[in-house]
Amino acid sequence: MLIFHTIQQLQRHLGLQQAKGRQVGFVPTMGALHAGHLSLIAQSKQEAGFTVCSIFVNPTQFNDPKDFEKYPVTIKADIELLLKAETDVLFLPSVQEIYPNDAGEVQQYELGFLETVLEGKYRPGHFQGVCRVMHRLLTIVNAHHLYMGQKDYQQCMVVSHLISTKNITTEMHIVPTLREADGLAMSSRNMRLNQEQRTAAVAIFQTLIQMKAALQPGPLLEVKKRATAFLESKGFRVDYTELAHADTLALLDDWNGTDPVVAVVAAYLGEVRLIDNMVLTAAD
Ligand code: AMP
Repeated sequence: MLIFHTIQQLQRHLGLQQAKGRQVGFVPTMGALHAGHLSLIAQSKQEAGFTVCSIFVNPTQFNDPKDFEKYPVTIKADIELLLKAETDVLFLPSVQEIYPNDAGEVQQYELGFLETVLEGKYRPGHFQGVCRVMHRLLTIVNAHHLYMGQKDYQQCMVVSHLISTKNITTEMHIVPTLREADGLAMSSRNMRLNQEQRTAAVAIFQTLIQMKAALQPGPLLEVKKRATAFLESKGFRVDYTELAHADTLALLDDWNGTDPVVAVVAAYLGEVRLIDNMVLTAAD
């Protein structure tokens, strides 16, 4: 695996690969890698072939400075995992490399409704930061294929929107959420949970399962309320437990029995904010 810190080195190498006719797959991450990230790498290797992973803890997407400060950094272990996964290239840029003229005017991305709801509402500015870094990374890497996790459902929608509105030619692929044995979605933030919190954390997955079992045509308010109450009983501070249209994220008060539905949850255990989702109308 080659490790590049600069755009110039990376692009020189990618130019050679593309000249050989290789398809390039790209897996952007913020490090503190786990098996969920590695499943994206595996899919990229299988489908695209030549695989670039980036590790960049993007300061512009943290609406909470404390969350940024405490974001886990485990670069040595990350490199070991990427080597085992036979990743071709690791792109490890500095903040200066990604945002060279930080004093300049910052581009605003038109995200419409997506920015007003759920993560957009509870993490103001978060998706502007995601667009800023993803626009930059997608332009730098110029990959044929991009692999992102369904774990960040709304983020996938935001990046798809970015790709289509900025005429980026990279094709987006959404990879299913990898879970721990008890159902907890793998996440770099899980490292910050103490033992008691880690045990309690499974309640998020249980909530999604309960919402799935309770989904019926008609009003949904009770289902959402019960989900919040269940999480609160397990010690969570809940941002939201919602049911939304799976294609638009429009929040649903009633279900017509046919629209695709996604259940989305965001809740804190102590200082750690966890999110998860499940498409309730999908086969699995
Ligand atoms: P992060 O490092 O948290 O920014 O995540 C980098 C990529 O890995 C994003 O596309 C995430 O959606 C994806 N990802 C994170 N957790 C998981 C998981 N448990 N299963 C699959 N993909 C994941």
